[in-house]
Amino acid sequence: MAPPSLLCVLYVPTRLVYEGMNLTHEIQNLFPALHIRENQPLSNHTTFKLGGPCPLLIDNPDADQLPKIIRTLAKKGIPFLVIGQGSNLVISDAGLNCVVIRFCTDRPNIKTTENQITVSGDTLLDDLAQFTIEHNHGDLTYCSGIPGTIGGAIAGNAGAFGRQMGDHLISAEILGLDGNIRTSTQENLDFTYRHSALKKTGEIVLSATLQPPAGNKRTMHIERERIITFRKENHPDWRKTPCAGSIFRNIEASSAAQRRQAAGYYLEKIGAKTMHIGGAHIFEKHANMIIGDNTCTAQNVWDLSELLKQTVQKKFNIELIREVQFLKTNPPSPTAETN
Ligand SMILES: Cc1cc2nc3c(=O)[nH]c(=O)nc-3n(C[C@H](O)[C@H](O)[C@H](O)COP(=O)(O)OP(=O)(O)OC[C@H]3O[C@@H](n4cnc5c(N)ncnc54)[C@H](O)[C@@H]3O)c2cc1C
Repeated sequence: MAPPSLLCVLYVPTRLVYEGMNLTHEIQNLFPALHIRENQPLSNHTTFKLGGPCPLLIDNPDADQLPKIIRTLAKKGIPFLVIGQGSNLVISDAGLNCVVIRFCTDRPNIKTTENQITVSGDTLLDDLAQFTIEHNHGDLTYCSGIPGTIGGAIAGNAGAFGRQMGDHLISAEILGLDGNIRTSTQENLDFTYRHSALKKTGEIVLSATLQPPAGNKRTMHIERERIITFRKENHPDWRKTPCAGSIFRNIEASSAAQRRQAAGYYLEKIGAKTMHIGGAHIFEKHANMIIGDNTCTAQNVWDLSELLKQTVQKKFNIELIREVQFLKTNPPSPTAETN
């Protein structure tokens, strides 16, 4: 049987290209200062530096512009995908056949009350971690050095060192795929390990209100420095080395008495660090991270992840589940999960 393939023939229906040209004018008229570009390579917008073109890229709209944009697309039935910093994505070499909206900013938008923080979905997680320490607004030190936006972190319930975003969420302003806004609570969002309901629905986090536990400013500062040093020593530097974090989720405990097991342990045991396919290699210090050289393709990363998955299955009868999202060209779905 042929192995599953990420390679897809790029199929951009005439309707989407034609609509794209009309759409550029229509959305540009709504928001003249907005960056809208046709036929843009997505490799410029993912930390893995992978991904072919999309017919239309709407770059960095404000949270208050998004509802109108989504309503315009929904009315026309044009498929779209909202991405953040692209730090958890491997996008097909053939690109995506949908409008891509990049909701990510280096200008943090954070408001505080006595013990709660409201932060826009496009704010970077590390900027939030730094802000909360500087202003003594609760302990989010574990978020230090995790790339990506608040929106991406809530959708994927990002976390580290046993803590995760969903734990502190009081409520989130959610933009539905029809462009309507509602407020969701923690209970509505169905957080589990590296998962939330948003991964299935594809709905968009416009902003989130969080209540992290209190912390001591000095202790948090020291902890942030420790975590950043730990990441520098043990993870690839995504600014220089193409990657998307851990490829596989850790393995869920099968009983309450057990702990979650590191996928990296099994990957070490199968000799993952010696494996490579094309330009995709395993990071020398972390068997659960694939990095790319300058010849790497999305197909290489998919094929290497498939080899790792099959080898662990054969040797340990354990099914690894991908944490990184692999997005295929078609169907262009905001909820595509390829695991
Ligand atoms: C070096 C490195 C280390 C990492 N370490 C960790 C770690 O310790 N812990 C961890 O959990 N992750 C880690 N990651 C993975 C990644 O940083 C997180 O998953 C991050 O939360 C993804 O955010 P993003 O904005 O980049 O999302 P993207 O990669 O852009 O998107 C991921 C998913 O979120 C969706 N999404 C994006 N924005 C929104 C929004 N506003 N509303 C709704 N959905 C949205 C997208 O549609 C997509 O489905 C690491 C990655 C790298 C490269």
